[in-house]
Amino acid sequence: MEDCVFCKIRKGELPSTKLYEDKDFMVIKDINPQAKIHLIAIPHEHAPYIDMMTEEGVLLLGKIIHKIALNRDKLGLKNGYRLLINQGEDAGQTVGHIHIHILGGEKLKEF
Ligand code: AMP
Ligand code: ZN
Repeated sequence: MEDCVFCKIRKGELPSTKLYEDKDFMVIKDINPQAKIHLIAIPHEHAPYIDMMTEEGVLLLGKIIHKIALNRDKLGLKNGYRLLINQGEDAGQTVGHIHIHILGGEKLKEF
């Protein structure tokens, strides 16, 4: 989508610190980290909400979660991590393109 920050990052129209990319998704560093390590996994498919994703896209979310788990040591998340998806206004979603926050690198606050 033309105005989407994450689509622009993918196309190289905006700078980012990209840690990983394959044909399905990319992992970048969050520009405003809320933990010592704060990454975002972003599927290439542009959809603002989970209910707007294709079935393939939803299945990909599971694959991404698995890949994060398999690579946790490499990502500096040996001691644990938190995955989070904000959906809609009440959750404080600010970018209308599905993404999974990956938080860790320190003891996280309980909520
Ligand atoms: P959310 O509030 O769940 O929609 O999360 C959007 C996240 O994207 C926030 O944590 C922002 O800090 C992050 N963000 C916004 N713009 C950029 C950018 N250009 N590069 C990296 N992260 C970004
Ligand atoms: Zn997008």
